[in-house]
Amino acid sequence: MDVKDKKIVVIGIARSGVGAANLLCKLGATVTVTDKKGPDEVKDYLKKLDTNIKLKLGNHPPELFENADLIVVSPGVPLNIPPLKAASEKGIKVISELELAYEIILSQQSKAGSKKAEFLAITGTNGKSTTTMLLHEMIKNGGFNAIVGGNIGNALTEEISNLQFQISKFDYIVAEVSSFQLDAIDKFRPKVSTILNITPDHLDRYHCMSEYIDSKCRIFLNQTNEDFLVLNADDISIDEIMQRIKSQEARGNTIPEIFYFSRKKKVKGAYLKDGLIYFNLPEFNFSSTFNLQPSTFKIKGVHNIENAMAASLMALLSGCSFEAVVNTLNTFGGLEHRLEFVREVDGVRFINDSKGTNVGAVVKSLESFSEPVILIAGGRDKDSDFTALKPLIKEKVKALILIGEAKDKIQKAVGDAAKKVYIENDLKSAVLKGKQAADIGDVVLLSPACASFDMFRDFEDRGRQFKKAVMEI
Ligand code: ADP
Repeated sequence: MDVKDKKIVVIGIARSGVGAANLLCKLGATVTVTDKKGPDEVKDYLKKLDTNIKLKLGNHPPELFENADLIVVSPGVPLNIPPLKAASEKGIKVISELELAYEIILSQQSKAGSKKAEFLAITGTNGKSTTTMLLHEMIKNGGFNAIVGGNIGNALTEEISNLQFQISKFDYIVAEVSSFQLDAIDKFRPKVSTILNITPDHLDRYHCMSEYIDSKCRIFLNQTNEDFLVLNADDISIDEIMQRIKSQEARGNTIPEIFYFSRKKKVKGAYLKDGLIYFNLPEFNFSSTFNLQPSTFKIKGVHNIENAMAASLMALLSGCSFEAVVNTLNTFGGLEHRLEFVREVDGVRFINDSKGTNVGAVVKSLESFSEPVILIAGGRDKDSDFTALKPLIKEKVKALILIGEAKDKIQKAVGDAAKKVYIENDLKSAVLKGKQAADIGDVVLLSPACASFDMFRDFEDRGRQFKKAVMEI
């Protein structure tokens, strides 16, 4: 990909839009950034943009798109908006920031004649960031040089700019990839990829589950039989994923070698049995003599056993030693806002799971506690079906405290399963209500099952405000 002197439009200004625009500018492209938001709303991002970049804010002028050589679309922008549809119909290439990063890395390497840094890519509805960071640590502890980025907070394009294009120094690029990024890939081909799970989410943007699964499955679209794919054998969508792999094969494409992880049965890959994780990778000389003990891991919860299995498999398939995998799991403390312990007050533990933004995540979070839970949930609904929470609310939740736009919908869906329901106007009063409702030994858990944008800047802001309120009790 040669972008020098090309007219390139970046649509959507947030972290990845800034990363893409700055990188393209450094490479000599004529870049225009457009966003339907006005300058005031995006002022924090504007400060980070190279001053040579042109701006078209507040609307998307059609002529800008018609005359572009390439359009880079940010994950928050749906591909079916009229200017993008019109551009695609005219044959103008529309790619995601992930594809841009991939193609720039490939072209830099081929120019330099350097070895190829391989992509290790993680997608799934939940667990992406945790697995990505875990894998990055394993890869580093295994003695490799690696970049980490993607959906995780820093854009891959930003990393490439920061590194002054010294890609040849790196063995691996560990990338967290969202379905929105995958929707606009072209050549993106990871050496090892995983789909951790696919449960309902983002149904405000995808028409149906099948479309959402299609999107996630694009992670292996360009993989061949020289690559590896790691799948969750216990996931509700595994049959649908396998169907898509079969149809890829039926179209005459080679497919990656598949490995599985499972908490329930012996599989080729990694599996849990009698409280230990075993590896069944005979061709890599990892057999049942290699096992891991989740009780020694710093990260807890059933979902983290799955994340640990996925990351370990990916690390071993990438050439990491077993020692590097074990040492990482025994020291990696997890990420902020993911089942993060905040404080114990009068024998009540407060847990910040602000990143629990969909029903599937909250199911796993609740499953991780044996103590009674006071659950704080609610926020902006993503067309979710909250009834799936009913059995666990019945079993574990002592009081349900609801906030935000979705409070009434959640109450209607699951209210009768909860022993008590309280509606609160803000997070601070929800925390105080949580403290009141709890007895010694209980857990007060913020795991909202919703997006944060109705009341907060983002899930991080929500998590920080929760922790502040807890510290002020
Ligand atoms: P993502 O980046 O996919 O949003 P995170 O690692 O940030 O994933 O975790 C987000 C939330 O999802 C966590 O707070 C936890 O509640 C839940 N979670 C983490 N891993 C899993 C998993 N493997 N399966 C289901 N839920 C998970």
